[in-house]
Amino acid sequence: MDSTQESLILADPLAEQRLSFWQRWRQALAPPGAQRERLLELQRGRVVALAVALQVVALALLVTAVWLGKRAAAETSALAAVAFVDGRLDEIDATLRQVQGRLPAAPAEGWACTDALTQELMRASLDSLLVQRLWLVAADGVRACGPQGAGSLGELPPIAGPGAALVSLRSIATELVLALRLPDGRLLAAKLDPRALALPAEGPWDAAGDRGERISLHTADERRLRLWEGPGEPGALVSSLGLQVRSERHDHAVSVELGRRAFVSGLLGHAPLAMAAGALGTLLFCGWVWRQAMVRSRLARRIERALRKRQFVPFVQPIVDMATGRCVGGEVLMRWAHPERGILPPSEFIDEAERTGLIVGMSTLVMERAAHRLAPLAQAHPELYFSFNITAGQLRRPHFASELADIFNADTLPRAQVLLELTEREALDPLTQRTVRALHAAGWRIAIDDIGTGQSSLAALERMPIDRLKIDRAFVSAVGEQTARRPVLDAIIGLARDLGVRLVAEGVETQAQWDYLAQRQVASAQGYLISRPLALDAFGRWFEARLRPVGSAAASLDDQPSGGSALGPDALLHDERLLGIWRAMLAPGGVDIRDRLFNLRLYRQCFAGREAVDWLVRHTQVSRAEALRLGRRLVALGCLKHVLDEHDFLDGELFYAVTSDTAQDSLQPVAADLRETLHGPHGPAQTDHARGLLLHRRCLRGSELVDWLCKRYEITPDTALQWGAQLMRQGRLRHVFDDRPLSDSRALFRLT
Ligand code: C2E
Ligand code: CA
Ligand code: CA
Repeated sequence: MDSTQESLILADPLAEQRLSFWQRWRQALAPPGAQRERLLELQRGRVVALAVALQVVALALLVTAVWLGKRAAAETSALAAVAFVDGRLDEIDATLRQVQGRLPAAPAEGWACTDALTQELMRASLDSLLVQRLWLVAADGVRACGPQGAGSLGELPPIAGPGAALVSLRSIATELVLALRLPDGRLLAAKLDPRALALPAEGPWDAAGDRGERISLHTADERRLRLWEGPGEPGALVSSLGLQVRSERHDHAVSVELGRRAFVSGLLGHAPLAMAAGALGTLLFCGWVWRQAMVRSRLARRIERALRKRQFVPFVQPIVDMATGRCVGGEVLMRWAHPERGILPPSEFIDEAERTGLIVGMSTLVMERAAHRLAPLAQAHPELYFSFNITAGQLRRPHFASELADIFNADTLPRAQVLLELTEREALDPLTQRTVRALHAAGWRIAIDDIGTGQSSLAALERMPIDRLKIDRAFVSAVGEQTARRPVLDAIIGLARDLGVRLVAEGVETQAQWDYLAQRQVASAQGYLISRPLALDAFGRWFEARLRPVGSAAASLDDQPSGGSALGPDALLHDERLLGIWRAMLAPGGVDIRDRLFNLRLYRQCFAGREAVDWLVRHTQVSRAEALRLGRRLVALGCLKHVLDEHDFLDGELFYAVTSDTAQDSLQPVAADLRETLHGPHGPAQTDHARGLLLHRRCLRGSELVDWLCKRYEITPDTALQWGAQLMRQGRLRHVFDDRPLSDSRALFRLT
């Protein structure tokens, strides 16, 4: 890791923490960049919609709660009313049964309303407070005998069953009769006092305690009589809020209905509470959304900062020919070289990068780096190709084609050796199809990535200019499993054959998968079985080792030998022109290497980009554009270094230092000793130093190092300083901020 990067990264979290809560609010609400604006705008819409939804839910919950409460109260009222009515009917029923026992026997033939009978009926009627009059009705239902002699009770509905039934007279619905069918077919009927079943004003049926509650009685013949009404105005009744309870002892039911006003007043009674709960819920929800937004915008900011510091680097995952096992190229995959967390995969940042549009800059950086650093290898092996993942955002850029042409050219990675990977969705999107066709017409090769995961039809693919299809690893992993994805894999293989397009299988992890694909003549494969994605240097070494005869088609995972590197500064050895330029830069009279003051800080032994471009133009007789390209390649190959490692080689007031020849290495043993002893548990390099609120870990002061060198090797401080300077040139010792030379001072250094 670069010490400069570390110090900057260390600085930033602190700066972020120093922002007050309000500052963050203001920063987020008045965003400086269009990207953040878009982020929050998106959130704002969602927040409002969800807050409204939350309020609606709170309201619905309130209505439901009040409704359930009313229902429960209505049930209590109904049960109490049923109990009351049953008690009264039990009493009348007992009277009827007593009278039944005392009735003179029916005359042998026909019907007779005798004095004895009327007297008995009269006595019983007077005895009971609930019964107005008792009647004995003949089996034909027409003739009747009452306390005053023969007469008519009125038309009764049919009475079925052996028990007493509560019915009403057909002519007057409000006149209730409890009728008992005697074994001989006659009917003993008690016409009830109108107040017999009326519920007293106060009682347990008043449970709801609201205005407008109404309790009704339902007789066996489906007549309905009001038993009770709550105090106050009833208003309109809401039947759906009421309920009916049937008696278990007699044939009747009681229903309770609620007035709409009672319901509304119930709602209003609870409204303040519900509103408070809703407001609290909304507040909590908005807080949560705000937090999410902050976390996301923080990630977006980190990515933005990482992009400024150029922390995105290309890795390459080799792709091999399945027939010969030879490497045919590789897929360039982005990694975030995070100063604290190490190398991070795209899953950690790509979604956010795409959402915020930062992916475009990141991809350009990665493509540029890969183009320059893979150039020597690609030029030495024109049969290789390298594929790059392209997003829809990039395709929609108006000058995308010319940007590509700037990055990939004869000096870097030639166009013919570049494959652009687009997903089905991106390639077939009507907005980008023209661009895709134009790119293909301009000589760029196109691959469709993750084929099978979209919904593209054969016809749609047939119309597209496609050079390769890549099978998504989900389908490759289906080999050996009995899943529905296996037939899809076979179908894709068939599809590629029909289209006449070469197929690349992604995510090949097992020999079984390799064999399955090889049997079906899949052209090339990529996956952990062959190699994981590698840093560019490692890829160079892997490739060179692979060029030597290989035993099996698929090399093992650990088959990543170290050896001569085709990449890195050593790659200059393959490029006579660049090597010449680099040597000339370093030679006396070369590019003007001076100490410079910038922002009150002194930078030693470096030059500004503009001067280097002037020098290149003069020295190599090329155009400024060409000089810029040469400068970029030297940076990509590690021959020029920006002193803060943050910028590309630009024709500006940015400082660069030329890295020196690494041939002389007389200090190798000293360096090894230094590393072992200084980095050991008791070495001075274990110390932490605080500077300007920043903590620098595992570094040492220049004076500490000089003292240590003097003691250990019995040399003079001057020699120790020279040794230190040489270690710095070799990159084994670095100043924690920038490329300051080793000094016998309090400046901090770190061994790398
Ligand atoms: P992708 O284009 O489908 O890339 C293939 C992914 O599969 C890579 O994941 C690779 O490491 C992984 N892979 C390859 N072989 C195997 C295997 O045998 N087993 C398993 N489990 N995985 C394997 P990676 O590098 O994490 O990239 C993930 C995705 O991020 C890529 O999917 C691509 O969509 C995106 N991505 C990566 N680099 C870039 C980039 O430079 N630009 C853009 N726009 N997207 C990128
Ligand atoms: Ca891909
Ligand atoms: Ca893929």
